[in-house]
Amino acid sequence: MKLTLYGGVEEIGGNKILMEEKHTRVLFDFGQSFTMGEDHFVQWLAPRKLNGCQDYFEFGLLPKIRGLYSKQMLARSDLRYTKPQTDAVFLSHAHFDHVEHIYFINPSIPVFCGHGTKKFMEVEEETSSLTKYGRHDYCTFKSGDTVKASELTVEPVHVDHSIPGAYGFVTTYPEGSLVYTGDLRRHGTMSQMTDDFLERAAEEKPSIMITEGTRVAPEERRKLYSEEQVLKMGTRIVEQSRKLVVMVCYSRDVDRFKTFYRVAKDTGRLFVIHPKTAYLFHEIMDKVDVPDPAKDPQIRVYFRRKRSGTYDDSDYYRWEQGFLDRMVTAEWVRKRQAETLLSLSFNQFTELIDIKPLPGSTFIHSMSEPFSEEDIEAKVTQNWIDHFKLTFYQLHASGHASCREIIEMIKHIRPKKVIPVHTEHPELFKKLVGPGKVSLPIAGKELTFH
Ligand SMILES: [Zn+2]
Repeated sequence: MKLTLYGGVEEIGGNKILMEEKHTRVLFDFGQSFTMGEDHFVQWLAPRKLNGCQDYFEFGLLPKIRGLYSKQMLARSDLRYTKPQTDAVFLSHAHFDHVEHIYFINPSIPVFCGHGTKKFMEVEEETSSLTKYGRHDYCTFKSGDTVKASELTVEPVHVDHSIPGAYGFVTTYPEGSLVYTGDLRRHGTMSQMTDDFLERAAEEKPSIMITEGTRVAPEERRKLYSEEQVLKMGTRIVEQSRKLVVMVCYSRDVDRFKTFYRVAKDTGRLFVIHPKTAYLFHEIMDKVDVPDPAKDPQIRVYFRRKRSGTYDDSDYYRWEQGFLDRMVTAEWVRKRQAETLLSLSFNQFTELIDIKPLPGSTFIHSMSEPFSEEDIEAKVTQNWIDHFKLTFYQLHASGHASCREIIEMIKHIRPKKVIPVHTEHPELFKKLVGPGKVSLPIAGKELTFH
């Protein structure tokens, strides 16, 4: 059995894992690295979509794997098209750094993912002009199903992560078995799902465990909480405010929206969300326990001025139309600051100019603290906070297990070999679980197991 990690090596995100057993080849995730191409591309200087894979190949941003990409994507490239030689692609969850590059993959190769992942991807394509995953033969699974790909049997098992519908995989091959964690955590509201995965993985007595290690680092410098703590502390912060409360979080962190929905309810405020969030909730409502944004009395939907500048119905996309009767505007929020908990995204900060938050209003940053001092978004955010004299709070529960928890998981599952992925510090695993137990991957280099 051979494994090649084409991404997620010495970096957080961009997982691309190829598993080969005799003539069977499957991929686990095919995401884009967060820093992809930053040495050659910036802002509008971007790879040309019409050039397919070639602009990516030029700088080594996509692996040259035969029998994977579509004819169209290779048409202008220096890799010759060959018919599909990959049996299946398995997606652990719908985050960008795990799925983005499936756009290039031959549509006749089946893509297996959870129902939730497919739904999240559909909504993202519909509501974002920048996202395109291409046409694919999707096959959805649920926890405990088994998928047979010639020599391999892949069993997806649900895990808890910062997006619903996340999975880890237990794969058996003739001489052994492989466990891949995807991204997971134990401090979320659905930690039982991660426990199920860990039990199933341990029962398998796997030969290999490919584990995420986002928070495996020499020291944890960020302040992180459990989702329960975010709820408690968030409620306390909002209770104390007599002015506007603004919160920012990741656009698909459903758990966080649910937490702040509860905060709004418990503190008697209206939870004002973006139309995109409303649409997402509406689309996943039948599978995930979220309030109905079109009916819930605690929710309003914030509409910005577009085209006509007069909030005319025809200014808005079809997917926004269903929430027009839940509309609130900047003026509405300005007049009801003490009654509003406003969810705002970075790209919408200009709305603050119209909302005119009173000095001393609250700003809750409910996402990761910046990873570097040079983080431009963080600097700009700070400038907006300073300009409007907002009081800042950092309040976040990570999507990832802590370093200690990852090591405990490895000890519980007891694989013969550990391969760290999705981490900036793979070498640290040697120290933490024993040097003989860890195989450090090199991006694009095949590892062979007997
Ligand atoms: Zn993720």
